[in-house]
Amino acid sequence: MHQADADPHPWYAESAQSALQHLSSQAEGLSAAQAAAQLEIHGHNRLPAGPQRGLLRRWLAQFNNLLIYVLLAAAVLTLGLGHLLDAGVIFGVVMVNAVVGFIQEGRAENALAAIARLIDPQCQVLRDGKRQGLPADELVPGDIVLLEAGDKVPADLRLLRADELKIDESLLTGESVAASKRVEAVDAAAVLGDRRCMAYSGSLVASGSGLGLVVATGTGTELGRISGLLGEVKSLSTPLIERMNQLARQLTIAILLLSVVVLLLAVGLHDTPWSDAFLAVVGLAVAAIPEGLPAVMTITLAIGVQRMAARRAIVRQLPAVETLGSVTVICSDKTGTLTRNQMSAERLWLSEGQARIEGSGYAPDGHVHWEGADPPVEIGLRAARVCLLCNDARLEPADSDTDSGQPTDWRVLGDPMEGALLALAARFGLDASAETTKHPRTASLPFDSARLYMATAHPLGTQQLVLIKGAPERVLALCAKAAGEDREIALDASSWQHRIEQLAAQGLRVLALADCSLAMDARLDHAALDGHCRLLGLIGLIDPPREEARHALAECRSAGLKVKMITGDHAATALAIARELKLADSPDVLTGADLDALDPAAFAQAALSTDVFARVTPEHKLRLVEALQAQGEVVAMTGDGVNDAPALKRAEVGIAMGMKGTDTAKQAAEMVLTDDNFSTIVAAVREGRVIFDNLRKVIAWTLPTNGGETLAIMAALLFGLALPVTAAQILWINMITATALGLTLAFEPAEPGVMQRPPRGRGAPLLTPFLLWRVAFVSVLFVLACFGVFYASQGAGHSIELSRTLVVNTLVVLEIFYLFAVRYIEGSSLSWRGVLGTPAVLIGVSVVVLAQLLFTYLPVMHTLFNSEPVGLAEGAGVIALGVVFLLVLEVEKAVIRRLAP
Ligand code: ADP
Ligand code: MG
Repeated sequence: MHQADADPHPWYAESAQSALQHLSSQAEGLSAAQAAAQLEIHGHNRLPAGPQRGLLRRWLAQFNNLLIYVLLAAAVLTLGLGHLLDAGVIFGVVMVNAVVGFIQEGRAENALAAIARLIDPQCQVLRDGKRQGLPADELVPGDIVLLEAGDKVPADLRLLRADELKIDESLLTGESVAASKRVEAVDAAAVLGDRRCMAYSGSLVASGSGLGLVVATGTGTELGRISGLLGEVKSLSTPLIERMNQLARQLTIAILLLSVVVLLLAVGLHDTPWSDAFLAVVGLAVAAIPEGLPAVMTITLAIGVQRMAARRAIVRQLPAVETLGSVTVICSDKTGTLTRNQMSAERLWLSEGQARIEGSGYAPDGHVHWEGADPPVEIGLRAARVCLLCNDARLEPADSDTDSGQPTDWRVLGDPMEGALLALAARFGLDASAETTKHPRTASLPFDSARLYMATAHPLGTQQLVLIKGAPERVLALCAKAAGEDREIALDASSWQHRIEQLAAQGLRVLALADCSLAMDARLDHAALDGHCRLLGLIGLIDPPREEARHALAECRSAGLKVKMITGDHAATALAIARELKLADSPDVLTGADLDALDPAAFAQAALSTDVFARVTPEHKLRLVEALQAQGEVVAMTGDGVNDAPALKRAEVGIAMGMKGTDTAKQAAEMVLTDDNFSTIVAAVREGRVIFDNLRKVIAWTLPTNGGETLAIMAALLFGLALPVTAAQILWINMITATALGLTLAFEPAEPGVMQRPPRGRGAPLLTPFLLWRVAFVSVLFVLACFGVFYASQGAGHSIELSRTLVVNTLVVLEIFYLFAVRYIEGSSLSWRGVLGTPAVLIGVSVVVLAQLLFTYLPVMHTLFNSEPVGLAEGAGVIALGVVFLLVLEVEKAVIRRLAP
């Protein structure tokens, strides 16, 4: 990691072979021992993290806020007037708030950093001649890395092979057109953008595939040299939180102005002494300022992100947390998301016969059952060979018998569908390593989502044999003949079409296999194949639907979410799976070609009303998102391929697949699913709704409790009445309740009905008319309770100290009961679940109750706050008042539920 300043070696001016030698590497990659030794020398392949916010910075940030400035100014003024106690309590409020904010934000930041590490990039390397997955930060110079479309280049590479390889280097060169790569060395004076035999760390493979030798890692890479520190300090904020902070600031300014007016009126109208009036107004201001609100909102959000991560949904962009709750349409892939992506090839249909393949999973053992008397065994073998050689995946034992050492379970490295084809070849008795040595691959056309097929070339005598597999109608279009046992036969396209439909209608994924002879010097491209291929046969693969997806789809329906399946697969296959999953009552399907035939108005209509889109390209995905958005929908869209990035960026919530997704898709997405599972999306939407509810609850609790206290003092000052609570007492209430009670709402679990109501939709405000009504209503109830208790106590002949102690306890009791009411914002709180609370609520309430007992009964409190011990009867009365208050709110909720349409 110390090579950053040394002049880098010009690897691009050297031949690939000499670069290999230079780094003591070889075509089959480093050995495990070599790699370990290199790791010792060069360190991990990572760039230093960005500047972490230090403890001191985080602590000071707690005070960098208009609300806190006002409080501190009030404390200083109060101190100047000689009110030591009041100044001390205001200071206490600020400190308690800061300590809680400091601890909780620290936890949140750590949690978010840990979540970000969950999507650390992986890469494919050759070591000891074997392809294997490796965390990108374990790469060392000398390693050989495989590149595919969509990969992020994990280190600086000298290319050893480049098949139609194009790399987007805009990060380094600013050039937005992807650069074509080759293997030949370039001039030593070439600038970075012209070094066509190099792939630089951080750039993205736009298309094609390749193989590269790692020449620099970590800070030794070009990226490391130019950026030094790339870490971005993510702020814990979202548009909604920004808006709330702004509201809190406006509120603070309004409160300050109001305080001045009240001060002047109190002194002018009632001859209240300046110093008394000032103290009361400070109490008013401190009571009214929602100083805890910003921190509690941030924490609510952070807890939500953690909950989503626990459900395997990794949020990359914090604002997505908010948006998720308002999603109205989910556009989902089929393969792997709604289905399990555990494929097995079950059917093989050739021109002159068919076979059923039996076997379990990816294990090589199994049987080929031919139907009919005279099976076309030769063509069958030829087809199986295409499956094996036109394939980038590998099978390896996942588990083996402890006694015999025989593998009992197998797993796929690469695409599961290709894994299934390897298993099929093995069931035909083909040996993978023998075949690949006998028929080395000399060129390839990698699979891509527009071409829909893949081809590889292998030398055969004086010619090349090209093997092709892909979407059946595309492969069929390439073919002029079909292969029969020991002869070529005419291609009956319509009967093949019919067979394709038949297999697809059973929900099978259908592939066609073909081959083609090419002159030795001919270039392998689409034009060379078109019209020259021989169709070998069709393969039907099953990919069972995910059971949990079915439940998730039912949940979507009750939650008013539309779900659309968008797939590159065949229409009949997609429709069969949609039916099996009950995606809709009677799902309908359109293909990409159907969509292309529609005018814009019909397209928009189709985007909204159609359930399944098949054989679509990434461009269609983008158009569908745009059409849905234009009609007011909030769209979540999944994607995995390199070309999905525009649609993912465009959607409100772009969702990339963590397992099968490319790095390009992950970078474009707001959220990554670590399990690629549709039900995880629905869980995240649910969590998004919970977070939004909790934010509303925090506001619904904070504003009226502050408002009630404020109104009470204001009324007393304006009407020249005796203060029902002193300024110091108001400050005390604020200090203990604002954080201990308000914060508990950040931990609220989902309300039972979250997924039974329609989505909130785009731009729904936090402060709904209902919430504003609630703030006013509850504030007034607080004032009534305050004065009611005060005058009742005075009327009963109690001292003013006891009366005020009773009022303080009343306020706190009401805040506690209101907390229970707010936990179910519209639904009833009167259930076991509602009464028992959550651990957070119980801890918060216990802290507050304990503090109140101290306030009421501890002698030192009597001197500090002029409180007096409360008798049992009065205490019970205060609690009874809280119960009555809760019942009043329940009636209010019931009335509002009745009034709601
Ligand atoms: P999806 O993932 O939505 O099912 P894809 O775009 O991955 O769709 O694939 C579309 C079609 O392309 C598949 O139905 C299949 O016929 C073909 N196909 C997919 N992967 C490969 C591959 N590796 N090689 C050849 N053909 C493929
Ligand atoms: Mg796919």
